[in-house]
Amino acid sequence: MSLLASKFDLDHVNPDFDDWYDIDWQQELQHNITSVAQLQNYHPLSIGEVAELEEVVAAHPMNIPRYYLGLIDGENPDDPIRKLAVPGAEELIVAGEMGETTKDPYGDDKHDKGNGILHKYSYTALVVATEYCSMYCRHCFRKRMVGLPNEQTVTNFRNAAKYIADHPETSNVVVSGGDPFLLPTDVLKEMLTPLLEIPHLNFVRIGSRAPVVFPFRFFDRELIDFLKEFNRKKTLFVPTHFNHPAELTPVAERAVLELREAGISVNNQAVLLKGINDDEQTLVDLMDGLVRIGVNPYYLYQCMPVARVRHHFQVPLKAGVDMVDQARRRLDGYAKRFKFIIGHDIGKLEICGRIDDKLLLKQIHARQEHPEEASRMLVRKLTEEGGWLDDLGEVTL
Ligand code: SF4
Repeated sequence: MSLLASKFDLDHVNPDFDDWYDIDWQQELQHNITSVAQLQNYHPLSIGEVAELEEVVAAHPMNIPRYYLGLIDGENPDDPIRKLAVPGAEELIVAGEMGETTKDPYGDDKHDKGNGILHKYSYTALVVATEYCSMYCRHCFRKRMVGLPNEQTVTNFRNAAKYIADHPETSNVVVSGGDPFLLPTDVLKEMLTPLLEIPHLNFVRIGSRAPVVFPFRFFDRELIDFLKEFNRKKTLFVPTHFNHPAELTPVAERAVLELREAGISVNNQAVLLKGINDDEQTLVDLMDGLVRIGVNPYYLYQCMPVARVRHHFQVPLKAGVDMVDQARRRLDGYAKRFKFIIGHDIGKLEICGRIDDKLLLKQIHARQEHPEEASRMLVRKLTEEGGWLDDLGEVTL
């Protein structure tokens, strides 16, 4: 599909801070762009493009907040924000030159304990609170899940809390999705409060991309007051997901500030994405910008081999590791705290760097059934195209 020379008509979508501060977030959600017909109000599409996009959207729904749509530079045919939000015909590719794809690259299905719980690492339980997001990102590795309303996961949260209480090895819980902050504040209160009663739980994480794509969710006083109170009793972190410096707007910065003023640390988990942030300068600007607004750079993920994502978003590991190293050379200590990570079925692997054509990795988390794999070093032979651990043969130093 060609979006060249497109010009989004965004006169009524002013990303100016004052316009967004007082809106009702639930009402604003109703204005999201969810159909190809609505998208045409912002961007004229040919009949062929409409047919193509209808097919893409049938496989992975579209959902774009007006605020985020307003960040698109309509004059730039390669605008990274548009690639993150607007469906593209490339998503119809499910196999090809980058190798195999899967619907479950992280092996989530094997660790599903029911009630929305995924328990892969002994110390961390992940609870899928909702499958709804304020935006359906085109690169999402949970493409198989988003867009499918599943109220049962919400009502089962109390059972999830009971599971965690019965597993004293669990030191922390990740409340994930979807985006948990898209749930109404009273539902969040009801869900999260039982976690306060679990003594072995050291901290709680609520994963959310809302600070990036729907920041006015955090202008809800009742929500911030609840989070502040919760955080006093049980330490709370919000992992978020900025991928590009253009997402670091004054509105997003204000959302982060609301969380920080409630005493909550915000950590960033970006994904290295072709055509979005796969150059040294963009990575430097992203990491520096995060530190400037008080967000800790935590992870930079290698894009997973997900069907409808891999072939147009994944960067080969050889190019990626060089790019990250070049960026790190220019970053101060706080900005380069992030780990470059492969989130694999076997666990999490930090990409440490390369010596010639040998990639050095350190496994930092292992599945419960293979604790001996944690903290081991791995060496793999790099190729020009290999983008995932499984693409690279084993080799010795
Ligand atoms: S907000 Fe997160 S879970 Fe939701 S679509 Fe985007 S990347 Fe996926």
